[in-house]
Amino acid sequence: VPRLASVAANGAILLGNVYSVDAHTPDRLIRAVTHAHQDHMKGLRSSIRQSLNIIATPTTFRFLEVLGYRVPAEKRIELPYRRPVEILGEVVTLYEARHIAGSAQVLVETPWGSAGYTGDFKLPGTPPMRGLDVLVIDATYGSPRYQRRWSDWDALDALISIIDDKINYGPVWVYGFHGKIQEIMVELRRRGVEYEFMADPKTIELARVASEFYGVPVDGIRTYMGGAVDESVVIFFHASKRRYKMRLPGTHIHLTGWEMRGVVRQTGPNSFNVSFSDHATFSEIIEYVAEAAPRRVIVDGTRGRDAWYTAKHIQKRLGIEAVVQPGVGLA
Ligand SMILES: [Zn+2]
Repeated sequence: VPRLASVAANGAILLGNVYSVDAHTPDRLIRAVTHAHQDHMKGLRSSIRQSLNIIATPTTFRFLEVLGYRVPAEKRIELPYRRPVEILGEVVTLYEARHIAGSAQVLVETPWGSAGYTGDFKLPGTPPMRGLDVLVIDATYGSPRYQRRWSDWDALDALISIIDDKINYGPVWVYGFHGKIQEIMVELRRRGVEYEFMADPKTIELARVASEFYGVPVDGIRTYMGGAVDESVVIFFHASKRRYKMRLPGTHIHLTGWEMRGVVRQTGPNSFNVSFSDHATFSEIIEYVAEAAPRRVIVDGTRGRDAWYTAKHIQKRLGIEAVVQPGVGLA
């Protein structure tokens, strides 16, 4: 019997015989992309050249375009959620994953069994793929030492109160990853936060895509032209720009899921970490597996921390066979 699923050393999630998800595999015909984050677009340019097709949700394709990836029309399979497609005898279906706009889980059904990959996700909002032969799960926060004790909603409240406190003294700079900052813009508008927004052109284009996905208008974002800003505005930037912008006047807020000490942490006279994550907590990972009840679990060991712990916990507490791949040498 052919293998149903495995995780390669480069982070490719191999499902069935045909699909390579979230990293490039030279001998796989189809590349699927769960969402437009760097660590899930590995080798995408090679895949665009060499694969027969690229599969993603329509929103992810739009994100990829803004980020500079051109996928030729004849290779594109834009797959809305819950619409199965058969390729070379293996049926692929994308399911919702709450993470960033357009994120998907991938299910592959073959004549010899079924395999699914969650991609990045958090709960609630990610329907478990039930009864699979093999489930490949993301374990970004793979053990209880990364267990946050507050919710996204707490983090959002904290963010709003810092903005309210500081905005009369000048700009508030907010840093996060693509997708996350757009979701924050949407959530702020949804809660009636009406301060003016500013961002660079790429961030604005991504916001337009996210705004359509969530069905919440985020209009009139002004273009940031560089340098210091002397206005009461909220300025959004990709996390990679934080180092250069931190010197500028205003209040600086870093959105990071790795802040475990509290929902807000002041890191300097005018800087804060807000612990807002777009990944499942450890207990949400376990909750997902318990509800999905697969026959076997593979924990992705290439993207998270403490994957070994997740596997051990699933095995012992849920009684489901679980391994980490790629295999880790015992130290
Ligand atoms: Zn991600």
